[in-house]
Amino acid sequence: MIFTKNNISSDLERAWQNDKDHVIHPYANYERFHEDGSVVYTKGDRHFIYDDKDRKYLDGIAGLWCVNIGHGNVEMAAHIGEQAKNLAYFNTFEDATSPSAANLAAKLASLCPGSLNHVFFGTGGSMANDSAIKIVHYYFNMLGMPKKKKILSRNLGYHGSTYLAHALTGISSTHIGFDLPKDMITYLSAPYPYRRPDEMTIQEFCDSLIEEMEHKILELGPETIACFIAEPIMGAGGVIVPPDGYLIKAYELCKKYNILVIADEVVTAFGRLGHLVASKEKFDVQPDIIVLAKGLSSGYIPLGATVISETIHKVISRPKPENPYFSHGFTYSGHALACATGLKNIEIMEREDFCGHVRTVGPYFKKQLKTLEDLPVVGEVRGSHFMLALEYVKDKRTKESFPAEINIGKRIYHSAKKRGLIIRPIGPINVLSPPLTYDKDAIDETVDIMKKSILETMNDLS
Ligand code: PLP
Repeated sequence: MIFTKNNISSDLERAWQNDKDHVIHPYANYERFHEDGSVVYTKGDRHFIYDDKDRKYLDGIAGLWCVNIGHGNVEMAAHIGEQAKNLAYFNTFEDATSPSAANLAAKLASLCPGSLNHVFFGTGGSMANDSAIKIVHYYFNMLGMPKKKKILSRNLGYHGSTYLAHALTGISSTHIGFDLPKDMITYLSAPYPYRRPDEMTIQEFCDSLIEEMEHKILELGPETIACFIAEPIMGAGGVIVPPDGYLIKAYELCKKYNILVIADEVVTAFGRLGHLVASKEKFDVQPDIIVLAKGLSSGYIPLGATVISETIHKVISRPKPENPYFSHGFTYSGHALACATGLKNIEIMEREDFCGHVRTVGPYFKKQLKTLEDLPVVGEVRGSHFMLALEYVKDKRTKESFPAEINIGKRIYHSAKKRGLIIRPIGPINVLSPPLTYDKDAIDETVDIMKKSILETMNDLS
């Protein structure tokens, strides 16, 4: 549908009504949805997004941590059009491929650290995490270690919403009402320095997390544990940056007990932290599997990837006597158009040096946002580069939270939206994860709007 002056209002009103009548939204809030319906967004341009009334907003969340090269990139649009004309889709089952699937796999192999050099494609992060777990289980079965099945995950980790990925997710409030397959999963404590026990230093907190992890491994029996899955910085859990050294020590424990490590880099890769892949370059850790999605295609076409090590690949690619197939795959694995989008996305990011831009401007963004810690309800501003959050508290000294029904994050979100900025509310936290096109002007405006919105909300509450 092309919106023209004549049809815009009636067509958009119809879209709004159709949405209300027929769409089931991810994470729909059914306290409000039946009344309010949705905001219809119609177009985007770099880090701006427009709604059905043609109101312009700063997109402070890159759609959902994903439109990394920014909205409305004409080079990308033209490339997608060309690829669609040539070949939008053919399957990649068994012995078929396309140049874009093959070349994107090679490109990801060159970007990922160590011997991570084989790629299984899907359409998003949940599917990529499910694939990672299936591959890990298959690997240990092939090695004759069928008892190695258990998975270490963490409270507040987010890994997706398919049956298994939701179970891997350690945000327990989201589990309510779904019977998720949690039997094989153990949730470790979140490495959440702001919410550490009062008496502990950050170093002691870090040590206690590692002690807890080793204790759990020994309690469960290392011979029963297949893998540890972790985001290097937790995203949807509230942008939780682990204490320095935590990841390195957790990875060391995994190595010690022959537990594979899956780095869920669905959010942290493709420039958000100033690197195309962050595990090695930013955190100095070497996972066995890296999971990618979101910024991999900047959200222009759904795409996810599970990148595995040479060691794992050697084992899973052995034909079994009873069935030579690796029986795992999706219609859209290696989708030609999606992979072409991923390749073009990386080409644009490298050519335009988006990572360099984020490394330069990211510290300024955090420094400016940190000034808001002077406000009485801002307990902490945290994060790194283009992955930032503010946590609000009723009492800064005791870190006492606001009662949930106050919906502090949501109130500030509404106030910011009114002023032309979209942020993400997660309980008492607001997240900022903008397109990587964000410049100093956008950052200054964002911080200014955040300040006004927090002050207005404080005023309303007093
Ligand atoms: N992993 C992480 C770290 C995520 O943040 C998300 C989504 O937000 C996912 C996995 C799931 O990705 P998707 O929604 O594409 O399935």
